[in-house]
Amino acid sequence: MRVLITGAAGFIGSHLVEKYLKEGWEVIGLDNFLTGKVDNIEEFFAHPNFTFIKYDVTNFLYVKGSLDLILHFACPASPLHYMKHKIHTMKVDSIGTLHALGLAKEKKARFVLASSSEVYGDPEITPQHEGYRGNVSPVGPRSVYDEAKRFSEALSMAYYREHGVDVRIARIFNTYGTKMAFDDGRVIPNFLKQAILGEPITVFGDGSQTRSFCYIKDMVEAIYKLSIKEGIAGEVVNLGNPDELTILKLAEIIKDLTGSSSVIKFLPLPEDDPKRRRPDISKAKRLLNWEPKYNLKEGLEEVIPWFKKRILKKE
Ligand code: NAD
Ligand code: UDP
Repeated sequence: MRVLITGAAGFIGSHLVEKYLKEGWEVIGLDNFLTGKVDNIEEFFAHPNFTFIKYDVTNFLYVKGSLDLILHFACPASPLHYMKHKIHTMKVDSIGTLHALGLAKEKKARFVLASSSEVYGDPEITPQHEGYRGNVSPVGPRSVYDEAKRFSEALSMAYYREHGVDVRIARIFNTYGTKMAFDDGRVIPNFLKQAILGEPITVFGDGSQTRSFCYIKDMVEAIYKLSIKEGIAGEVVNLGNPDELTILKLAEIIKDLTGSSSVIKFLPLPEDDPKRRRPDISKAKRLLNWEPKYNLKEGLEEVIPWFKKRILKKE
């Protein structure tokens, strides 16, 4: 079995490379290193079943040979990155998705789209289930990402309905783990970096906004199951951990687990920052027989040594 992973040098993509190689697949990784790093994948370069292509998916896309599966994960994911690369984010989730879907059609490959809980915007209902249509600003600062993901979903469904491409849409909720760029601004790497260096932990707003964090090992299992299950073409599935907590509580947990003496510093809340986010994962449980195994403390305890090693070395 042969899989193409776009965004292979990124956080989730590099963990997917590892998973599919372990499961015996031939893996083609593709990335332009916009936000990903070669460090994340260099351990696989010697693997006989791994090929890497440095390429921008917004260009015409073709790979030689057969493909059974395309995992389309290329796209800046941290708010800091997608607000810096506004137009590129919109291009990769429109033109890039178009190219990846076109290749899936050509190769008769299954297609898994990395979508996001951001399609729900600042949700008015909680938890968010797949039938909820969201509350997204088409012109706000997060729209470059939110609307691009919504377009990617619509385009994927068009390929499913018009060309019969076996598309599956993963609505991924906040995920964390090793290989996240610790300077990408996302809350867990940011808080870990600040706590490890003894710098103030920057909580935006009063910290009452919530998120629900999924450990990467659970997420990789979910994506794998979504990709191999038969008979679920055209399905949209929330993937995430439903354990919801406030960002202030997260800061306190990270301070505690790292044994940090950092103070908590409150900064203004960014515009359109969603107030609540919690996945309803009943569909994933039913369709994929999947639910997360790691609670937040267990996941954080596994990643803290990795972050400590790199952050203390780099500074
Ligand atoms: P990441 O930034 O670590 O990885 C994205 C990768 O895509 C990077 O390696 C980057 O260089 C690559 N890329 C960007 N533009 C490209 C292009 N034009 N051509 C080729 N490669 C390109 O982000 P991540 O957290 O690993 O997210 C991966 C996917 O999962 C994204 O589509 C993201 O929207 C989605 N997602 C992630 C989360 C999360 O919590 N991590 C949540 C929801 C959705
Ligand atoms: N956040 C914060 N301090 C930081 C970084 C983020 O308080 O240094 C907050 C942010 O405002 C949001 C939450 O943490 O409410 C999650 O932010 P992240 O950038 O990780 O992703 P989002 O879920 O907003 O896409």
